[in-house]
Amino acid sequence: MVVRFRLPSGLDIFGLPTENFYSGNWDLGPTWNYAVMADTPFLVDAGRYGRGDQLLKMMDTAGVKPSDLGFVLISHGHEDHDGGLAELVAMTSLKVKAHAIYDLLIRQYPEIAPADYKRHFPAKCWHCFMPESFYAVNCLGYHRVLQHLEVEAVGSGVNSLGTDIVTCHLPGHSPDCLALILGEEAVIVGDILLPQITPWPTRLEMYGDIAGVVGPMFPEAAEILGLQCYLQSLRQLRRLGMAHPDMQVFPAHRFYYDGQWNVVHLTQRIDELIEHHVRRCAAIVDIVSRGHGTVEEIVQRHFEPSLLQGPGKHMAMNEILSHCELLVDLGDLVETGRHQYEGSGTRRFEMVISTLE
Ligand SMILES: [Zn+2]
Ligand SMILES: [Zn+2]
Repeated sequence: MVVRFRLPSGLDIFGLPTENFYSGNWDLGPTWNYAVMADTPFLVDAGRYGRGDQLLKMMDTAGVKPSDLGFVLISHGHEDHDGGLAELVAMTSLKVKAHAIYDLLIRQYPEIAPADYKRHFPAKCWHCFMPESFYAVNCLGYHRVLQHLEVEAVGSGVNSLGTDIVTCHLPGHSPDCLALILGEEAVIVGDILLPQITPWPTRLEMYGDIAGVVGPMFPEAAEILGLQCYLQSLRQLRRLGMAHPDMQVFPAHRFYYDGQWNVVHLTQRIDELIEHHVRRCAAIVDIVSRGHGTVEEIVQRHFEPSLLQGPGKHMAMNEILSHCELLVDLGDLVETGRHQYEGSGTRRFEMVISTLE
């Protein structure tokens, strides 16, 4: 389906949702790519690998010709957003814009890859926690084509995207996440916040691998990775929602799902997400204080068994570890071995998370 949204100023945005095939309990639903019909129209995101062609057909249905577009902006470097990019660029010669970190991380650096089998993976995938059974099917072909793309780096603030269009670097879900603010009336948020789904946070631990690539630009892990970084990004977006309460939110998943629209209220949804992370921290501290201190034990006790099937287990571990990193930082947990914890008796996270700036 193709959906046209008309903002109060008259600006049209076409929603172009392309399918993802992941399913089961972690189903994201389609990726919502958008064509923003600004003075120089442009596309945000390109769907997953193999969906470039479908995206072009949807643009055709919307009456948007590739030659009308100035560029495609990538919200962040996850495969369900840039997988179709190389295909799209090959068919249309569109220019690509993305955060500078994206430009660095899609390249291969065989001499500093953390493990031998990662030598032919781009740096953005060195920390990926998905098993080989997943990436062999879903990722290898896409990496090969992506690394040759030319990318124009975009930072935070006003830039050359168009009148009243501002990008905002809001890392945490991924180090290169960009939100796109359209005047005072809309924000395209990628996966920074979603209806129905709580986007997964990255882990500080991932910095070790990519420090050699992004270190000169971002010397501190906490600037671009980890739960605290993610929560700070949500806070920043919340301030935008406070300043402009009528701001419309265009998320990258679940905008329309199971036969219904999920309209997102910016500040309300961010409050729900922050509360979710406070509750998850509380649950982890409780589990650890009952003597179940390894990441596997916490995962088993915290998640429903149905969520731990296949790749679900790796996502659940990532989720728990990112919270444990924050809890260790705050002194509420002590790491007694690799990914093994003890409680300290404090619950500082409650106060800290609700007052983060
Ligand atoms: Zn994502
Ligand atoms: Zn996504």
